[in-house]
Amino acid sequence: MTIEVTARDRRANEMTALVKARPEPGLWMETRPVPEIGPDDVLIRVNKTGICGTDIHIWNWDDWAQRTVPVPLVTGHEFAGVVVEVGRDVTDIAIGQRCSGEGHLIGKTSRQSRSGRFHLDPETRGIGVNEPGAFAQYLRLPAFNVVPLPDAIDDEIGAILDPLGNAVHTALSFDLIGEDVLITGAGPIGIMAAAVARHVGARHVVITDVNPARLALATEVADVTPVNVGHEDLKDVMHRLKLVQGFDVGMEMSGNQQALDQMVEAMVMGGRIAMLGIPPGKSPVDWSRIVFKAITIKGVYGREIFETWYKMIAMLENGLDVRKVITHRFKVADFEAGFAAMRSGQSGKVVLDWR
Ligand code: NAD
Ligand code: ZN
Repeated sequence: MTIEVTARDRRANEMTALVKARPEPGLWMETRPVPEIGPDDVLIRVNKTGICGTDIHIWNWDDWAQRTVPVPLVTGHEFAGVVVEVGRDVTDIAIGQRCSGEGHLIGKTSRQSRSGRFHLDPETRGIGVNEPGAFAQYLRLPAFNVVPLPDAIDDEIGAILDPLGNAVHTALSFDLIGEDVLITGAGPIGIMAAAVARHVGARHVVITDVNPARLALATEVADVTPVNVGHEDLKDVMHRLKLVQGFDVGMEMSGNQQALDQMVEAMVMGGRIAMLGIPPGKSPVDWSRIVFKAITIKGVYGREIFETWYKMIAMLENGLDVRKVITHRFKVADFEAGFAAMRSGQSGKVVLDWR
């Protein structure tokens, strides 16, 4: 389906955007110039955006944000929209193409990039973090980063493909078919990873959290066993599920040290752990336990460019359903309510509507 592009889209030179305008907590809705595009870029009219945990860090202006984000900056990196302009040298993307896109902008000179492992490029820069982002009516993006959306994927799902991609990248790190899987952290990404694990054929998927609202949401989105580790013993649940030795595969999605410790304890000998969660600082790890259990740990960053995108779109076209992870929808004028919902810890994904 091609979307009609209006004359207004081509003539607009000003736009509304959510800007980190000052080095203090908050985001501000401001009028900004529509980005100019280069020969290899496209201009995307943004329809829907997702609010990410990263955006909350930027809103809160914590240590990481202060070290990382230049001010002023248009924020946001989770989006879906329509291509309204293409650069001179862009031949493979048509105006009117519905799309989402990879928000990690990669360099072309590193060994990793030159050998096609784009997601491992050490020069990666993020839109909405280091470069102007998607919380705006228009976004400039290299054509290389554009991911066309099939009709089966609407804009609100398109707007959460970035975090779904984190979930898919993590979940597909290890073979899950017939395996027992433990996910620590029932945030939006942990929940979506659980749905993916189920979709690809894991046997048991156990998901832990300390927040009952998040665990309840997990069971709405996917067929999982929720465990509130605040007052339930994971060992009891394992016993109930007849897990003899432990979990074959773990996905750490909380960034919490105790969750990782608990995961290591609950794994089988030779278990495999994919770690997406980002601990807030240095945290002590009982390495001897990991060595004696012969556990493999893989750090996961971003999405595989573009293999994760192909896999997730294929799965969405074939029955993977994560829509219920979106719990709040707001017009962008009400962005403050959207951020409040996200900060409350009671939400799943929060989507803003820019139209
Ligand atoms: P989130 O903060 O919404 O979810 C984390 C969940 O962990 C929360 O629900 C929290 O209650 C829960 N938790 C806290 N303590 C716990 C414990 N002891 N046991 C189990 N659960 C516990 O985060 P999200 O947006 O779903 O993202 C998940 C993680 O992935 C975060 O740490 C985030 O920073 C990280 N992340 C990493 C990448 C990457 O590229 N590596 C990308 C996106 C997000
Ligand atoms: Zn994100």
